[in-house]
Amino acid sequence: MEWRLIKKSGENCLVEPNLPNYEETRHTFSWSLVDDELKGWKEGQGLNIAEIAIDRHAESSRVHYVALRFLAQDWTVKEFTYGELKAQTNRFANVLQKLGIVKGDRVFVLAGRIPSLYIAALGTLKNASVFCPLFSAFGPEPVYQRMDRGDAKVLVTTTLLYKQKIEQLRSRLPKLQHILLTDAEADMGEGIWSLPQLIAEASDEFTTVSTDAEDMALLHFTSGTTGMPKGAIHVHKAVYAHYITAKYVLDLHPDDIFWCTADPGWVTGTSYGIIAPLTHGVTSIIDEAEFDADRWYRILETQKVNVWYTAPTAIRRLMRVDIEPRKQYDLSHLRLIHSVGEPLNPEAVVWGEEKLGLPIHDNWWQTETGGIMIANYATMDIRPGSMGRPIPGIEAAIVRRHEDGTVEVINKPGMDGDLALKSGFPSMFRGYLHDEERYRKCFVGDWYITGDLATRDEDGYFWFVGREDDIIKTSGHMVGPFEVESALMEHPAVAEAGVIGKPNPMIGELVKAFVSLKPGQQPSEALKLELIGFARQKLGAAIAPKEIAFQDNLPKTRSGKIMRRLLKARELGLPEGDLSTLETN
Ligand code: ATP
Ligand code: MG
Repeated sequence: MEWRLIKKSGENCLVEPNLPNYEETRHTFSWSLVDDELKGWKEGQGLNIAEIAIDRHAESSRVHYVALRFLAQDWTVKEFTYGELKAQTNRFANVLQKLGIVKGDRVFVLAGRIPSLYIAALGTLKNASVFCPLFSAFGPEPVYQRMDRGDAKVLVTTTLLYKQKIEQLRSRLPKLQHILLTDAEADMGEGIWSLPQLIAEASDEFTTVSTDAEDMALLHFTSGTTGMPKGAIHVHKAVYAHYITAKYVLDLHPDDIFWCTADPGWVTGTSYGIIAPLTHGVTSIIDEAEFDADRWYRILETQKVNVWYTAPTAIRRLMRVDIEPRKQYDLSHLRLIHSVGEPLNPEAVVWGEEKLGLPIHDNWWQTETGGIMIANYATMDIRPGSMGRPIPGIEAAIVRRHEDGTVEVINKPGMDGDLALKSGFPSMFRGYLHDEERYRKCFVGDWYITGDLATRDEDGYFWFVGREDDIIKTSGHMVGPFEVESALMEHPAVAEAGVIGKPNPMIGELVKAFVSLKPGQQPSEALKLELIGFARQKLGAAIAPKEIAFQDNLPKTRSGKIMRRLLKARELGLPEGDLSTLETN
């Protein structure tokens, strides 16, 4: 396996890393040790994510420390200290209680990245109700599907989104009792309340409703990359994983400014855009605006961001623009960059090192795992293209499933197989909503089969091969699209690539690549041939694409993942399937 080592021995770190010795911590770690760090703060009161995230700090000397700093489109800043966040979430929990919302009831939020979303999320947890985020750009139908399946009792939204999407759905959602409008000055009719008014009338004292570690806390729908989104159930104990991964992977330190660019409509934006940084008492930046390269660099500069958590799709967009980040902006506060959501092409890791002065640390997890599972660490050498090594407390393996219902751990360098996790960790999903059978099918014995294929090298680094559904079988080879896409991305003309297998009677499947070009590059037959030749040199003739098509906008989920299943369906003229998470420009 080819990789280039980026030395990360810790000498560049400005702070003492939280994980100085991976091997040692991995050896000594046990989840019960987290009890001492978290649960012990209020003995005998159960476990509640919001208490760990907010009250633990609000009742300490950090009470006046900024927890959340919101940047509006026009750069106006709105801040909440830990003390203020405690008061606001208490008020929201009182509002729910006044409306008769109880433990286990589902509270959905459909909103952009505005303060009310964060307050509602954490206030809901204090009331022992279940928080379920909806991405604000969803159309009415995807909103309906999720609220209906999730038994929504309360919806928090804005007046505009209510009028655009909810009003027309109301008669189809008989279980929906209350709609709380974040910006309405007065109530708007039966069950449609002005949230500011309710909040103003509510007390800022609230005793968190007692929750057990195993009580349901969060309901997250998956990204819908491979099909119909699934509702993954998470419990309060998941906060152990949020906390420990923010400690060891994101390497958060008390004075850090942290920025997670993901929207809370997706699991990353909740686990790491809301909960994890708060569990460490740091300041989180939340940008209410959409992606813009100049704006993002300005945020890194002006907010003095130390730790930045973003996604491959954003990095590829930054790579495309004609900006020399380190020459045009002061990025000297940046200490660590992480990425999740899709495979991170080696090219992007190296670009980070060259242009931002720091390599990008890839990590892997899923909606189902609730938190980071495999990662590159601040103190560990990066092998670009590898997802890294499992976090302490997580056992990951490459396994092969046998027909008799058993699994065999293979873990042999160079051998592909199912990426599996030993179940029993705190942030493991506890079910797919209303789909027990599908949930059960994910497990063989105590292994959770992730649906991704990977390999593990001799030093225990994991390498993503592809999603089970995306693997291409060509001339007796199993080809992961990621490998082909990454090779194409090394060509200077290529901005992005999506690779699929096309049924072919001679070779099983033919590798076809859809390529979007960098600005200023023109599609041509000559360029196609050049790209095929380039890929052959890198990958060999058997794996290199045999067909190339130029396509400006590759279809992506709203969370930025290339939807290969859609490229394939369109290529073959097949039904397009669930498009609820398709990004529309
Ligand atoms: P659905 O399950 O509905 O098809 P999805 O799998 O994209 O959607 P998520 O849970 O948001 O929904 O994404 C998790 C998946 O994203 C992983 O299973 C993996 O395929 C991919 N992924 C996430 N991070 C990485 C990474 N660092 N490298 C490679 N793949 C990744
Ligand atoms: Mg998935």
